[in-house]
Amino acid sequence: MKTNVVIVGGGYAGVMAANRLAATGRSGLDVVLVNPGERFVERIRLHEYAAGTRNDPTVSFASVLNPDVRQVRDAAERIDAGTRTVQLAGGRRLEYDYLVYAVGSGRGKVPEGSYAVEQFEGADEARRALAGLPPGGRVAVVGGGLTAIETASETARRYPGLSVGLHAAGLPAPQVGAGARRGLERSLRRMGVELHAGTRVPASGDPRTHLGADVVLWCAGFGVPELAAASGLPVDAAGRLLVDPTLQVPGQERIYGAGDAAVIAGADYAYLRMSCAAAMPMGADAATNILRSLDALPAVRHDSGFGGQCVSLGRTDGMVQFVTADDTPVRLHVHGRTAAVLKEIICRMTLRWIRNEAKRSGAYTWPKGPRRTTATAQQQAPAWN
Ligand SMILES: Cc1cc2nc3c(=O)[nH]c(=O)nc-3n(C[C@H](O)[C@H](O)[C@H](O)COP(=O)(O)OP(=O)(O)OC[C@H]3O[C@@H](n4cnc5c(N)ncnc54)[C@H](O)[C@@H]3O)c2cc1C
Repeated sequence: MKTNVVIVGGGYAGVMAANRLAATGRSGLDVVLVNPGERFVERIRLHEYAAGTRNDPTVSFASVLNPDVRQVRDAAERIDAGTRTVQLAGGRRLEYDYLVYAVGSGRGKVPEGSYAVEQFEGADEARRALAGLPPGGRVAVVGGGLTAIETASETARRYPGLSVGLHAAGLPAPQVGAGARRGLERSLRRMGVELHAGTRVPASGDPRTHLGADVVLWCAGFGVPELAAASGLPVDAAGRLLVDPTLQVPGQERIYGAGDAAVIAGADYAYLRMSCAAAMPMGADAATNILRSLDALPAVRHDSGFGGQCVSLGRTDGMVQFVTADDTPVRLHVHGRTAAVLKEIICRMTLRWIRNEAKRSGAYTWPKGPRRTTATAQQQAPAWN
C-alpha cells in the first residue's frame, strides 16, 4: 500500500525530514516536498548576501535532496486535517497520510522604508539598496539579536565608507554572557558600528525618518507564517504550531511539526530557540517518528541540545559563546579570526549534514538535550536572533 508523506516547507527542517524518509528506499513511500522557491535558501548566509560579501545564498534542491523526493513548487494555503489534504495556492490539492509542517519563519511585513534581511527577498532588496548608497550614506540596523549584529558587522566591513548604526531595544546579544558581550561590543566599535542600546522604533511611520537613516535593515525578531492558525491547528501566542515531545500535534497524530514554525509545548523544551541548530534535529525526529509509526513502533521523544552560539562579524572576525545543552552560556567564549573560522566551518557543515542524510537515512546525529534545564527566562529567547 502506498503512503503519502507531504512535507510543507523546504528549509533546514523540511529537507532534513524529506531526506531521512526518502533515503530509507522504503517501497510504497511517496515523499513530496512543497516549497514555493526554486532553490534551497541558506538562511544563515542571508546577512552575507545582503551586505554583498556572498553572491548566492542558495543551492539547487537537486544538490541537497534525495532523488526520490518529489518536489512541488507551490505554497500551501490551507491544511485540512479532516480530509487529510493540503490546498496549494496554485489550485492543486494534495492528499497525505502524514504531514510535516516546516514552513519556518519570516517577518512577512516590515515597516515601510525598511528591508527584512531574514528572508531572501528582503535580503535581495537590501543588497541593492546598500550597493546604491553613496559614501557617507547612513544605514540603521534595527534589532539587538545575533542576526542584527551579524548584519551590522557584515555591512560595516563591506562598506567602510558608510555610517552603520545598530539600534537595539535592550542590551545587544542578551543571550550571551557578559564577557562575550563585552568582546562583541569591542569588535563593533573597532569596525565603526555605532551602538544605540535602548532604542524603541515606533511601529508606525517611516523608520528612516525616525532613525535619520537612508537605509533601514530590519532584524528585530522572527515571525512565523499564519498557515497553522489559518488551518485551525493549535498554535501558541506567536502562531507556532504546538506539538508534543514526539513532534506530533495532539489530537492530530498524522501531523508533525519541525523547525522555527513549530514549538514543543512545556517548560522542558523552552530552551529550544528558533535556529537552524534546532530545526535540523526536529526535522530528522519528525521523519523518524513517521517511520516508527509505519512500523507500529512507539514514537521517540525529541531530544536535542546546543553547543554554542556562533556569530560572524564580517569575514575575518567572529565570536563563539559556548553553552550548556540548554543554551545557558558558560565562561568560555572565543573571539577574532579563530571564531570566524569556527563559524564558517559550522555553516558549511549544515549543508554537509543535509547531504549526508540524502544518501543515508539516519546519518545525521546531534548533541543531546539537557537532563534538566537551567536556563533563565531571559535566556529562553524564542529565536536565534
Ligand atoms: C541572517 C541569519 C543568520 C542566521 N544564522 C544562524 C546560525 O548561525 N545558527 C542557527 O542555528 N540559526 C541561524 N539562523 C536562523 C535559521 O536560519 C533559522 O532558524 C532556520 O532557517 C529555520 O529553519 P526552518 O527549516 O524551520 O525554516 P526555513 O529555513 O525558514 O525554511 C522554511 C521554508 O518553508 C517555506 N515556506 C514558507 N511558507 C510556506 C508555505 N505556505 N508552503 C510551502 N512552503 C512554505 C519557505 O519558503 C522556506 O523555504 C539565522 C537566520 C538568519 C536570517
